[in-house]
Amino acid sequence: MSSPITPAVRAEIEAAVGPENVISDPDKTVDYGHDEFSMKEIAHEPDLVVRPGSTAEVAAVLRIADARGIPVTPRGGATGLCGGCVPVRGGIVLSLERMARVLEVDADNQMAVTEAGVRLADFAKAVEESGLYFPPHPGDESAMMGGLVATNAGGSRAVKYGTIRNYVRGLELVTPAGDILQLGGKLEKSSTGYNLMHLVIGSEGTLGVVTKIVLHLKAKPGIMRSLVVPFEALEPALETVPLIMKRGIVPLAVEFLEIEPIVLTEEHIHKKWPTKLGRTHLLVILDAPSDEEMDRLSQAVAEICCEKGAIDVFIADTPSKQDEVLAIRSKIYDAIKAGTVEILDIAVPRAEVAGHVRKVREVAEKYGIWLPTFGHAADGNVHTHIMKVRYDNGAMVPVPESEWRPKADPVREELFRDCKARGGVISGEHGIGLVKKPYLSIVLDERQIEIMRGIKRVFDPHGIMNPGKIFD
Ligand SMILES: Cc1cc2nc3c(=O)[nH]c(=O)nc-3n(C[C@H](O)[C@H](O)[C@H](O)COP(=O)(O)OP(=O)(O)OC[C@H]3O[C@@H](n4cnc5c(N)ncnc54)[C@H](O)[C@@H]3O)c2cc1C
Repeated sequence: MSSPITPAVRAEIEAAVGPENVISDPDKTVDYGHDEFSMKEIAHEPDLVVRPGSTAEVAAVLRIADARGIPVTPRGGATGLCGGCVPVRGGIVLSLERMARVLEVDADNQMAVTEAGVRLADFAKAVEESGLYFPPHPGDESAMMGGLVATNAGGSRAVKYGTIRNYVRGLELVTPAGDILQLGGKLEKSSTGYNLMHLVIGSEGTLGVVTKIVLHLKAKPGIMRSLVVPFEALEPALETVPLIMKRGIVPLAVEFLEIEPIVLTEEHIHKKWPTKLGRTHLLVILDAPSDEEMDRLSQAVAEICCEKGAIDVFIADTPSKQDEVLAIRSKIYDAIKAGTVEILDIAVPRAEVAGHVRKVREVAEKYGIWLPTFGHAADGNVHTHIMKVRYDNGAMVPVPESEWRPKADPVREELFRDCKARGGVISGEHGIGLVKKPYLSIVLDERQIEIMRGIKRVFDPHGIMNPGKIFD
């Protein structure tokens, strides 16, 4: 049972963080009741938004909330796509926005220490200025570092460089009881007891609040080049991907795209994709230390694509061509957002992507619904979009709600069951949050969920941390 926030409790919170950082004006709290999930009916306003400026302030707020059973939902950049930071049980939204300092870039150890409220764009810039490189690049740079850790975010570069988990070396975590835990550190190795740090990564704010993060950095890569490869049919395009990897080439990213969203994005941002040939395209992004190595890799990838029946291979080898291609890939979501009900992020073994996407097309046909599908082909992460519009000759045409709404649930469930049958999971990078919670038991057995519940109880015995997320 959650308790109301009485004037006396509010006064305690104001004393902890300063009255100017406690917000209850509905005109302002409304902005803290949703994330980027398209169906806004999941939105729920908090009773109070609290903006602590330090770890000690976070701990003080959690102690007050824990003693009274007040729900606390941590909030980063609110770019999440599954309602993770939506305060479904009301209470406090704890926004990390004021904790926005990159504290240290330690070049000798190749580590950075950052507060959780730093935006990805600002973090990447600070690292770059120091001559180093932070490879993970999930699509929305306004995400905050704490949110990236809480969801174990991925992005297209995960194929070569891994997800956020591969970079986290240390975390500062405030537990619901207000204890401040230092997990890990500037370490490349640790076999010292259970790894609580990795338990917290991907826990979606249900175990505590991440306040600081130690991240591993890489040396700057040399040069980058993008290849756009159109195929007539789906299967040969997607079967090319495991072949590239099997031959020992690890691209920075391998994205597969369908022509319809590309056309809409060209129109949306007034840029040109190199070709309209074929229905399925691969975008292969390579990085290499030298021009010679880049030429060797590009040639090898082009040969494999042609072996599998590619119509052509277009190379974006100048910065301007490269920018144009990458801009279109990164803006597809913006271009089709107005017609999107939900973005799925199923992950299957790499060699199952073709079969899964074939299933998506069958389901689209069966229900008479547009399901544009693209994603991170080499890491098996498929973004199918459930749409409330149909595609007609370069335009999105609205479909009446009475038609699309009854189809959304069965479409989602059929695709989740197909992912299970292929040994996949229902989220490769976005998390379970609120909206995928009803489907968790499709891919995880009851005993696993029970163990997760037990872990949750150890960290959060009064159930105040982001209640209603991942599982009930
Ligand atoms: C256009 C677009 C493209 C995207 N592309 C990708 C992509 O390529 N790959 C990918 O993985 N994701 C992608 N996303 C999803 C989103 O950016 C990620 O899920 C991101 O990690 C969310 O970070 P955030 O700061 O916005 O978190 P929020 O949305 O604010 O919160 C997400 C979850 O983390 C919890 N949380 C936030 N901060 C903390 C903290 N400090 N301590 C504890 N818990 C916390 C919240 O309670 C919530 O459960 C994309 C989103 C958009 C809109």
